[in-house]
Amino acid sequence: MKLLVTGGAGFIGSNFIHYWFKKYPDDQIINLDSLTYAGHLSSLKDLENNPNYKFIKGDIADLSIVDEAMNGVDIVINFAAETHVDRSIIDPTVFIKTNCLGTGVLLHAALKNNVKRFHHISTDEVYGQLKKDDPPFNESSEFAPRSPYAASKAGAEHLVLAYFITYGLPITITNCADNYGPYHDPEKLIPRFITNLLQDKKVPLMGQGENIREWLYVLDHCSAIDLILKKGKVGEKYLIAGTELANIDVTRKILKLLNKDESYIQYVPHRLGHDFRYAIDDSKIRALGFKSEVEFDQGLSQTIEWYKQNEWWWKILKQDRPNTDRTAQKSYQALPNVIMALHAENWNKIVYPITGKTFVAIVDIRPESETFAKVETFEFDARNHQALFIAKGLANSICVNGDKGVHYIYLVDDYYDGSDTKAVAFDDPDLNISWPVKNPILSERDKNNPKLRDLYPEKFS
Ligand code: NAD
Repeated sequence: MKLLVTGGAGFIGSNFIHYWFKKYPDDQIINLDSLTYAGHLSSLKDLENNPNYKFIKGDIADLSIVDEAMNGVDIVINFAAETHVDRSIIDPTVFIKTNCLGTGVLLHAALKNNVKRFHHISTDEVYGQLKKDDPPFNESSEFAPRSPYAASKAGAEHLVLAYFITYGLPITITNCADNYGPYHDPEKLIPRFITNLLQDKKVPLMGQGENIREWLYVLDHCSAIDLILKKGKVGEKYLIAGTELANIDVTRKILKLLNKDESYIQYVPHRLGHDFRYAIDDSKIRALGFKSEVEFDQGLSQTIEWYKQNEWWWKILKQDRPNTDRTAQKSYQALPNVIMALHAENWNKIVYPITGKTFVAIVDIRPESETFAKVETFEFDARNHQALFIAKGLANSICVNGDKGVHYIYLVDDYYDGSDTKAVAFDDPDLNISWPVKNPILSERDKNNPKLRDLYPEKFS
């Protein structure tokens, strides 16, 4: 049997390849992966000399590479995706390209190459969120995705089903709960918390940790896919459940296993549109004979042990990346002619316009700075995908100068109660900023901001 596994250098894909070779060592596997930041060949180091394993570096949205990789393949299993919800909020376009267009290209090539099965890995997030007492999702639940990630996965799933209905491509789909286990990138909750604690750092928990997820040990997910490939009905989808737990409970279990107390929890704000709860009714796959083998507590201990034993795998990943543990997202919308006045906070921020045109003025109001009172201005058009970094203590202002209003996202790297905010009048004559709007709309607070010389008279004497 010859399998094409896409995204095999990622978390679940690499576990699946290990799982499969352990069980079916004579099969051939081609791993097609473009090696984004989430793809790690180190996860498959032990297979480098296996003659039945072949790695191809390539994008699933590239038809010529996909077509060649699929030559003679019996089964395609599509794991490749952009998967991190936080990243999808910052740049949804790459999610749409990989998850929707990429899946479409794979389907097109699968049809052309007469593959015997196209198995698509989807997620429970396509169904949106549940309230505390809502019944769990099942295969008939309506799609209601809420993040760009979930929406792109929902789009992909519609395409997969359309290829079955329209062209008779033999597909199956699984929608799985959150996975955990070895080779999980330390940007995700469980591995991030484990590796932070192993480095004696705090763990960033959103809200009060009240959000609820289901957790499935990754090798149980692999055996569920194996079962669907053998016994699943073509054209059908199957939901795979896990153990339902609030994030605070997962956190407490990790703390306990690593002998840390709750002072290691850093409570941080929720991500934008944070889904409250996912839960799954898995009767359909259980009727086929599926039962997960690994209890959560056992799987968590095993996972922690793996991260303890395999620092070589994860340490380098954390080193190469900015620390985003305390990063929060904030979203603002403003109408034409609005000026949000010059305010400085005690955090670094990145401003990223999603729609519209803005004029941004930045003033250095740090009295100790050599560039005190210096003004810089920038014009932004969201269509150019620009972002602006504003260092801690610099005052910035956003002026909406298009005719449609703007929507922008802030990423900030610290939290505080607002009491440290310093604001300066937008029309301070010492700053002499040429605003592009004539009669600006200001908030009550911004109408009364002091001039810079009122704040720091000694700097002007
Ligand atoms: P991951 O982010 O760890 O890995 C994704 C892999 O896909 C990486 O190796 C990356 O390099 C590769 N990739 C990304 N874009 C590509 C492209 N354009 N062409 C080729 N390769 C590309 O993801 P994961 O956690 O292993 O998830 C695998 C699949 O399972 C995804 O489809 C995800 O939506 C789904 N899923 C994941 C979970 C979970 O808890 N991790 C739960 C349910 C469903």
